[in-house]
Amino acid sequence: MSDADCLFCKIVAQEVPAEVVHVTERTVAFRDINPQAPTHVLVVPRDHYENAAALAAGDPVASAELVTAAAAVATAEGHADYRLVFNTGAGVGQTVFHTHLHMLAGRPMTWPPG
Ligand code: AMP
Ligand code: ZN
Repeated sequence: MSDADCLFCKIVAQEVPAEVVHVTERTVAFRDINPQAPTHVLVVPRDHYENAAALAAGDPVASAELVTAAAAVATAEGHADYRLVFNTGAGVGQTVFHTHLHMLAGRPMTWPPG
């Protein structure tokens, strides 16, 4: 289940390099190339789903594994506090249409997000 034109499918397949920090049976976590916090990691399912809702409907186990993987990375990097974000749709800033959970940590954050 991959898309030949998808950047994150290519990272999962190791056809495009990334700084991978954590892997599980269903997920891969790597550092964001344009970090918005001292720690900014993206956790993606190995299979291609366009957004978080599609993943939850199609593979709920992988959907849960994204969250547990993000928490494991936060703990490993010493962060008790962190923010998890799924952007869904270009209108709110989704630019890569392979679902990815942003895990941001290491600085104070405001609410609501911009
Ligand atoms: P979004 O805007 O929610 O779709 O998030 C896409 C994220 O992917 C952005 O934070 C980008 O900085 C990040 N990104 C784009 N290309 C790469 C890449 N080759 N390696 C790591 N992160 C990337
Ligand atoms: Zn993909």
